Amino acid sequence: MSQPEFHQLSNNVHRLDLVYKANFLFPSIPVSIYLVQDNSRYYLIDAGPPNSEKLIIQALAKFFDKEINDEKNFSILKEIDAIILTHYHVDHCGSARALYELSDQSMHISCHQDEVDFLAEVHPNFDNVKSDNWVFKMSKKLIGQPTLGIPGISHSEIMNAYGASEEKKCGKMKFCHCPGHTPGHCCFYHEEDRVLIGSDLIMNLKNKLEFSPSISSPNIKESIELTKKLVNSMKDKVEKFFPSHDVSEHGIDFDQVVKFAQ
Ligand SMILES: [Zn+2]
Ligand SMILES: [Zn+2]
Repeated sequence: MSQPEFHQLSNNVHRLDLVYKANFLFPSIPVSIYLVQDNSRYYLIDAGPPNSEKLIIQALAKFFDKEINDEKNFSILKEIDAIILTHYHVDHCGSARALYELSDQSMHISCHQDEVDFLAEVHPNFDNVKSDNWVFKMSKKLIGQPTLGIPGISHSEIMNAYGASEEKKCGKMKFCHCPGHTPGHCCFYHEEDRVLIGSDLIMNLKNKLEFSPSISSPNIKESIELTKKLVNSMKDKVEKFFPSHDVSEHGIDFDQVVKFAQ
């Protein structure tokens, strides 16, 4: 396998492509994490599937042009101001706990207020998540429940902690709460780059745009409805859309997303 590395998608946004396999019943799928620069600060959007921490550290070392030495602690993680999680699914936050430990428990990890309790539990109980579809209820038995135990705090807390004057804003980035796929699912709008980091709102797994699937979305109707609303409200502000599951190399032209979400 070639050396893991972040590749640049817009002025301030870089992407690392990883692979997730839930279990033998499901095929492997690509999943990306994003590195966002804000002047001298850096944020990771999502932390990849379980056991990705070494790949992430190698890619960060390459990005910051630093040597890593396995014998030492992973000081490269000090370059990252916070890990900002889009939602609690294990393909997005599976390595957050390991990265937190490797940072000597100093890494700030944030998620939406409605996800904090799920992330903090080692074995979260998703039975309390209300669902509007039977596919999701069945899937819990097939996929199993992840091991989390991540010390997350809410986005507002972390985004305001860095002196942002406007609520819900972290430097050049704003979070947009778009529930349905999970209760606290968020995506991130980078105003200056005119890009939307969309997480699981819309996927591109087969060179074809799709809404997030019912199998992993407790409230699929809400998710689709709010995705359409968000996409429409952003059509003059965004040029590129970056999904977490994307077989294209450079993200999706937003015109295409607007057309899809009609
Ligand atoms: Zn998801
Ligand atoms: Zn996902």
